[in-house]
Amino acid sequence: MIDYTLAKRALLRDAQVGLQSVNELCDAHPELMRAAKYVGEPTRVDCPVCGKDKLVLLAYVYGDGLRADNGRVWSIDTGMRMAAADPSALCYVVEVCRSCQWNHLRETFTARHSATG
Ligand SMILES: [Zn+2]
Repeated sequence: MIDYTLAKRALLRDAQVGLQSVNELCDAHPELMRAAKYVGEPTRVDCPVCGKDKLVLLAYVYGDGLRADNGRVWSIDTGMRMAAADPSALCYVVEVCRSCQWNHLRETFTARHSATG
């Protein structure tokens, strides 16, 4: 598991001092926003950008064996299952705000780390 918390802190710090506008941060892909609405895993974490909504978690899965499903957005459960089933697959967990569309990479999983059960 790779922790991107520090990178996120740096990004938010940059946003606060105006180096990056909120519009640049809030660039969620339409498919990501659709998935956030229907299969997003709720968290109790307030959005660090707008503060109006709780963040939800989603999984992007990339893998040579996935063909048409390569790079698509899934629920966390499905993404983890796909990553566990395919040793070449990488699962990126992203957090998304459904109000302002802010999104950020949170963790990366591979089969090596997630195939424990
Ligand atoms: Zn927000």
